[in-house]
Amino acid sequence: MTITVSQVTKRFGSFLALDAVDLHVRSGELLALLGPSGSGKTTLLRILGGLDRADTGSITFFGEEALGLTPRDRQVGFVFQHYSLFRHMTVHDNVAFGLDVRPRKDRLTRAEISEKVTDLLELVQLAPLADRYPAQLSGGQRQRVALARALAIEPKVLLLDEPFGALDAKVRKELRRWLRRLHDEMHITSVFVTHDQEEALELADRVVVMNSGRVEQVGTPGEVYDQPASPFVYDFLGNVNRFECMIRNGEARLSGLSLTVPATAIAPGPAVVFVRPHDVELVPCDGDAGAGLPRARVRHIFSVGPTARVELDIEGHPLEAVMDQDRLRSLNVHSGNWYAVRLTRPRLFGAGTRELP
Ligand code: ADP
Ligand code: MG
Repeated sequence: MTITVSQVTKRFGSFLALDAVDLHVRSGELLALLGPSGSGKTTLLRILGGLDRADTGSITFFGEEALGLTPRDRQVGFVFQHYSLFRHMTVHDNVAFGLDVRPRKDRLTRAEISEKVTDLLELVQLAPLADRYPAQLSGGQRQRVALARALAIEPKVLLLDEPFGALDAKVRKELRRWLRRLHDEMHITSVFVTHDQEEALELADRVVVMNSGRVEQVGTPGEVYDQPASPFVYDFLGNVNRFECMIRNGEARLSGLSLTVPATAIAPGPAVVFVRPHDVELVPCDGDAGAGLPRARVRHIFSVGPTARVELDIEGHPLEAVMDQDRLRSLNVHSGNWYAVRLTRPRLFGAGTRELP
C-alpha cells in the first residue's frame, strides 16, 4: 500500500464531515473519490495531501506516519477545479514555479529548469503556447498547464479535485481520456475527486463511493456498478427503477403492483427492489410470451444515439426501460402501446441495509 487511511474523522463545528474513514491507495493506481456534493471528498483529499488535519485516526504515507508531514514532505502535486494559475506569469513560468522556488541547494540551473518545463509542455501538448498568459488559453488548456505545473515537482502522489468540473462536456470528455493515457504512461499514484459517476467509472482503476462522510463501497468500476453494496451505491451509479416491496415466502411483492420477483436470500419484511433500465424487458402482449406478466403502457420515447429510453406506466407507477434502436424497431415501440414487462436482474436490499439519505 502507498497511502493508508485508518478511522479518520473530521468535524467542522458539530458537523461530521468524515466519519471513521478507512482507505488504501495502491501504488501507481488512479483512484476516484466519487460522491454527491457535500459527501466529504474534498475534505478527505485535503487531509491526504496534508492541507488539513484529521481530528482522529491516522494516515501513513509510503509507510511513514504522516501526521507531522507537510504537503511538501509528502511530495504531493495538486490540481484544483479552478485554475490556480498565476495570471501575471507565462505558461512556461507557471510550470517552472515549483522548481524556481526550491531552496538554492536543491534547485536546478536555469537551463535545466527550462529544459524540464519544455518536456512537460510537450507531455501536455502545449509546447507552442509556452509564452502565452493564462488569460490567452481555453479552460481545457489551463487545466493542462495546472497539471504540468503539478507534475514539475515530480510528485509521489497527484491529488486532483474535480479538475475538469468547470469545463464543458465535450472538453471534459477529451481531457478525461487524455488524463488516463498520461497516467498509463507515468504511473503516478493519483487520487481524483469527482461527483460525476460516468467520469469515475470511465477513468479510474478503482472507485471509492462516498456518502455523508462515509465510504459506502470501494471497487473496480465493474464491481461497484454490477455489485453495488448498498441502495445508495445502486442509486448513485446510474439510472435505476426503485420499488418498495414486502418479502414473504421467498418472494418480493412490489407495493401497489401485481408483480413479484424471487427473493430467497433475504429476510421476510419490508425491502426495496432496484432494476436498471436496461434490465427491463418489454415483451409483446399478443401471443403466449407475455402471459402472466404485468402490463405497462408506453408514455414517452427519448431516442437519441444508439439507445432509446422508454418511459412507461406500470399500474400507475413510472418505469424506465433502455434498449438499442434495433430492439425498439423490432418491438415497434410507440407511445400508447402496451407491453408485458419482465424485470431481469432485480436487486433487493432488505431493511437494515443503509438507506438513501
Ligand atoms: P465534497 O467535496 O464531497 O462536496 P466537502 O468535503 O467539501 O464535500 O464538504 C463536506 C461537508 O463539510 C460539507 O457539508 C461542507 O459544507 C462541510 N465543510 C467543508 N469544509 C468546511 C469548512 N472549512 N468549514 C465548515 N464546513 C465545511
Ligand atoms: Mg469538493
